[in-house]
Amino acid sequence: MADSPCFTVPAATMQFGRDRTDTPPSRIVLTLPIVADGSSIEWTDATWNPTTGCDRTSPGCDHCYALTLSKRLKAMGLAKYQRDGSSKSSGPGFGLTLHEHALGIPLKWRAPRRVFVNSMSDLFHDEVPLSFIREVFAVMQQTPQHRYQLLTKRSRRFGQAG
Ligand code: SF4
Repeated sequence: MADSPCFTVPAATMQFGRDRTDTPPSRIVLTLPIVADGSSIEWTDATWNPTTGCDRTSPGCDHCYALTLSKRLKAMGLAKYQRDGSSKSSGPGFGLTLHEHALGIPLKWRAPRRVFVNSMSDLFHDEVPLSFIREVFAVMQQTPQHRYQLLTKRSRRFGQAG
């Protein structure tokens, strides 16, 4: 079974919304979190990917399912996965890409959900501008009915974005 992005090393786990007490499990059970709603991951209800793509940052990334899955999604022609990343640290379809059109998706969800942010990326990747990260945070603040789940291997940048 592949590991989820950012699960395999100590990760900064941030939760926003009404309940901040939950912590994620150490493993993902099913790894096809590409839809914007109705995730099959057991500890979340929906995924939201305002960015896709990433670069490996540690041995903990060796089994990143998102890297493997992005290659397949590119071959299937999905628009969000057409930018290739470095052959050394990333891969086909896994180049870091911003998706401004996806920013407002949680605003349309009225019913409360647990939302896994960036199941196919790391929001705090160096190529994501702080201004964009703050836009993501602003959407979270505008939707207190949801509980947001963020995983990262770049917790240093999380501190900078605050
Ligand atoms: S940091 Fe990037 S490459 Fe590493 S596990 Fe997370 S998403 Fe995958």
